[in-house]
Amino acid sequence: MNNINIAIDGPAGAGKSTIAKKIAAELDYIYIDTGAMYRAMALYFLRAGVQSSDEETISAKCGEIEIGIEYLCGVQHVFLNNEDVSGFIRTDEVGAYASACSVYSAVRTKLVELQRKLAANENVVMDGRDIASVVLPNADVKVYLTASVEERARRRYNEYVLSGQECDFDRIKQEIEERDYRDMHRDNSPLVCVEEATVVDSSDMTIDEVCEQIMNLAKVAAASKNSGI
Ligand code: C5P
Repeated sequence: MNNINIAIDGPAGAGKSTIAKKIAAELDYIYIDTGAMYRAMALYFLRAGVQSSDEETISAKCGEIEIGIEYLCGVQHVFLNNEDVSGFIRTDEVGAYASACSVYSAVRTKLVELQRKLAANENVVMDGRDIASVVLPNADVKVYLTASVEERARRRYNEYVLSGQECDFDRIKQEIEERDYRDMHRDNSPLVCVEEATVVDSSDMTIDEVCEQIMNLAKVAAASKNSGI
């Protein structure tokens, strides 16, 4: 059987990781969260006290960093120089730094190489910003998952409220807009919707509806690949 790669790209808060994780579990594929890798690199630089604008130091320090991925009870854990940092990377500070340092070639080259290696011989669902355009241009299924800024801000707001954190809807919305702008307008591997991608707008869809649509695409791709069509 040929291995199948599913690429899911899209802006922050579109639900990529929720959807990708669920599809991977249902199809028994490996889920690769590339954002977590950029976040782990960001955590390293933050801890080292490097300014996110300091490309020279960040590029020089890339060689000191080893990122690893392991699956414990089916859940992806990210390792930074052998330390499991999965519990430290989900903060706004780390997310903003990841967005800032992901514009640098040294950071991207390192992670793209690792991501390609992970996908080479496995069935994977990989989510990020540049998966269909750069990391896996030959992916069997390419999805651009998006949702309106209002809806993405509302989802993030609800998450904060549920976890008992204070938050302001307008500020969240503004941060999402800023992150979208930076991810879409950087010179290096900007977030784009490639021509072959299926656009899925999840604004008015349930998680199950989105998963079903993407799994149908995956089933068609797997059937045609394995029958040699
Ligand atoms: O998806 P997540 O919010 O965890 O990603 C954090 C940041 O990492 C994004 O805002 C983006 O700038 C960067 N990223 C990227 N390419 C990817 C995945 C994430 O540039 N494939």
